[in-house]
Amino acid sequence: MAIHYIKDIVSIRAEVNLCRAAGKRIALVPTMGNLHAGHMELVKAAQSQADCVIVSIFVNPTQFGEGEDFSSYPRTLDADLEKLEQAGVNIAFIPLTKEIYPRAAMTEVCVSQISESLCGASRLGHFNGVATVVCKLFNIIQPDVAYFGEKDFQQLAVIRTLVIDLNSPVNIIPIPIYREPDGLAMSSRNRYLTGVQRSLASQLYQSLCRAKEAILLGQVSYSNIEELAFDSLKKQGFEPEYFSICRKHDLQKAVLKDSQLVILLAARLGRTRLIDNLQLDLLTTDLI
Ligand code: AMP
Repeated sequence: MAIHYIKDIVSIRAEVNLCRAAGKRIALVPTMGNLHAGHMELVKAAQSQADCVIVSIFVNPTQFGEGEDFSSYPRTLDADLEKLEQAGVNIAFIPLTKEIYPRAAMTEVCVSQISESLCGASRLGHFNGVATVVCKLFNIIQPDVAYFGEKDFQQLAVIRTLVIDLNSPVNIIPIPIYREPDGLAMSSRNRYLTGVQRSLASQLYQSLCRAKEAILLGQVSYSNIEELAFDSLKKQGFEPEYFSICRKHDLQKAVLKDSQLVILLAARLGRTRLIDNLQLDLLTTDLI
C-alpha cells in the first residue's frame, strides 16, 4: 500500500479519525527526518504494537538555538518517504513550519528541573522547544502510543515528565539505542563527520563502557570516573561538554546508594555535537 503523505493538520486529523472509527490503535513516531536504522527501530516497534502508524517528519525550529545547525540539518524527504513506504508505514505527517507555528505563540511548554542539567545547561530553551512541539503533535494526532529513542535519554525523561504532569493519555514507549557495528550511536548528525572523525567517534561509546566497568569493579568515586573519562576524551581530540553518572529517574548526580544509573555524555568533534549514554542496573548486573 502506498504511503499517505499528509502536510496539514485538518487532513491528518481526518485520517486519524477514520483510523479511530475503524477501531485501530494509533501510534506516533516523531522524527526530524533523515531517517536511519535507529529511527526504523522505532517504526518497527510501533508496527508491532499498533494498526495505524504515523511517522512525523518535522525539523522543529524552536528546539535549535542560535548558531546551531537548524539551516544545515540534513533534509532528505524523498529518501525518507521511500524508506517508510518500503517498511509499510501507513501515514507520514510532514507539516511546514507555518502549519505548526502559524503565529508568534504565547504558549510554551516548559518542564523544569529535568530540562535544566546536561544538554539543557548548554542548549538553553532546547527542551522547551522539544516539549512544546511534542505536545502539539500529541494534540494534533492524539495517538494512543508514541515511540521515543533512548539515544536522547534526557529528551525521553522530559517527555515522560510532561505526560505525567499534564495528564496526557499517550503511552510513551522507550526504544534502546541502535548502534553502528563499532558502537557509535546512529544519528543524523554522524553524516557531518569527516572520515578521521568518524573513526574516532566510536571512542565515545568506549568511554561509556569503561566507566560502566569501573563502576562494576567497585570504584566508589563517581566524580573520579567522570573526570578521568572527560580528560581522556579531551586527549583524544574531543571537546567534551559533560560526562555524567546520573540516576535514571530524575537525572540527578548518582550517589552510591543509587542502583538504577545512566552514564551520559555530550562532546563535540569538530563542528559536530554528539551525545550518547549507557544504562546500568546495579541490582541485576553482577559485580565483576
Ligand atoms: P530525531 O530525528 O533525531 O529527532 O530522532 C527521532 C527519534 O528517533 C527520537 O526519539 C530519537 O531518540 C530516536 N533515535 C534517533 N537515533 C536513534 C538511535 N540510534 N537509536 C534509537 N533511537 C534513535
